[in-house]
Amino acid sequence: MNSSSGRKRQPSQPWHLNQSAAPRLSKKVTVLGAGIAGCTVAAALTRRGFEVTVIDRHQAAGRGGSGNSQAIIYPKLSPRDEALPRINLAAIIFASQYYQPFWQQGLGKQCGVLVLPESTKVAADFRLIAERFNSQPDLVQLCNNSKLSAIAGMDLQAELGLYFPNLGWLQPQAICRQLLAQYQIPLIGADIQKITHSEGQWHLTCSDENLHPPNNSLASESLIIANAYDCLALQQTSFLPVTQLRGQITDIPSNQQIGTLNTVICGEGYITPQHQGSHSCGATYNKGLFTTQVREADHQANLLQMAATDQGLAEAIGAQDPGSLSGRANYRCTTRDYLPIVGPVPDVPQLLEDYGPLRTDARADISKSGSYLPNLFIHCGMGSRGMGYAPLTAEILAGEIAGEDRLIEPELRLALHPTRFLIQDLKKKRI
Ligand SMILES: Cc1cc2nc3c(=O)[nH]c(=O)nc-3n(C[C@H](O)[C@H](O)[C@H](O)COP(=O)(O)OP(=O)(O)OC[C@H]3O[C@@H](n4cnc5c(N)ncnc54)[C@H](O)[C@@H]3O)c2cc1C
Repeated sequence: MNSSSGRKRQPSQPWHLNQSAAPRLSKKVTVLGAGIAGCTVAAALTRRGFEVTVIDRHQAAGRGGSGNSQAIIYPKLSPRDEALPRINLAAIIFASQYYQPFWQQGLGKQCGVLVLPESTKVAADFRLIAERFNSQPDLVQLCNNSKLSAIAGMDLQAELGLYFPNLGWLQPQAICRQLLAQYQIPLIGADIQKITHSEGQWHLTCSDENLHPPNNSLASESLIIANAYDCLALQQTSFLPVTQLRGQITDIPSNQQIGTLNTVICGEGYITPQHQGSHSCGATYNKGLFTTQVREADHQANLLQMAATDQGLAEAIGAQDPGSLSGRANYRCTTRDYLPIVGPVPDVPQLLEDYGPLRTDARADISKSGSYLPNLFIHCGMGSRGMGYAPLTAEILAGEIAGEDRLIEPELRLALHPTRFLIQDLKKKRI
């Protein structure tokens, strides 16, 4: 048997191609949402010569999920060759370069990130990851207890962990603002209720007439939706399987013991080196809870997570009264496969009609390209790792809009595509 006859035939299913895309008439683009997803894509487009306007219901950038005082770049590698760790690897390498100028300006610190295993199975995976990347000590190193403690600057009890020397923590809100300021991107404060398309333009309707800016500038030929879970409120993107997932961080007051911590540590939870006298520690996951009020119960949960991450950390933090701690609560926008959503927004009824045969034969040959709404794109679903993902995914999206060559391999590109969920659901007869 020759190798080609042994290989499974790949059906023709070009759902990701958009042949009907109209040639772009102008270089004006509106981005809805001024979090890290919106600001990175706005900057990436501006660098390519687009004239970008950002709209947010807040008058300043980084007031939603991207508003924490300290956020970490969270690695998620695996010894297995799966899409998520491969995308995560590409993203953290890209991010560690992207944030250099921000670190140089003091908007965080490239202090390294230590990851401690949550179980013996995860520890076994760490050994395999270290073997796999053993020629790249700049990326990741396997550390024993004494090396872990030396890097952390304090006594840890974990027997092993992975050290990512080029990662660190960031001030997300300051970075969002810096991106808009650096590229002189205007931010319009408006709460958008709906979007409609007519005469070649996307029209954005605000909840408050008074907020409507002059010259009808809330109309734009191209629109990028970067408003996290609020994409569910827009008819065109309401099909996306994203979840609004609350989380809270706790500010731990620094003291002599924990104050020596000089790298990020993550395991069950994460903690940063001190910034302005406190350490960010988090985060909770509160499914089905919708309040941004800071809760004592979440502070308690974060303290317990620190103890579960490493008893040495809990001892250094010392006894804390959860009732007297401060913090911040907001929402993540999570996806069911834990990967961001990046690309053109499909015309759902047309795509379901064209790709309907997948319900009866998941391997059907369908020669039609996918159907997409004109010049409408989405950049969301950052989950718990927006700081790591957004620089790379913004670059992918801006590059595609500008007609550049693909930045990542096709298989990984499809794993981020907005249409992937519809195709999976058709094949599984869920829709
Ligand atoms: C407690 C907690 C801790 C976290 N820790 C980390 C961490 O350490 N590292 C990390 O990488 N990630 C972390 N995350 C996740 C990270 O915050 C998100 O991945 C990231 O902020 C998402 O960015 P975004 O731009 O997609 O969304 P957002 O920052 O939420 O931005 C969306 C923006 O859209 C605007 N908007 C929405 N709807 C409308 C509308 N209709 N009209 C106008 N404007 C609108 C909002 O006002 C908002 O500014 C954490 C999240 C939480 C909740």
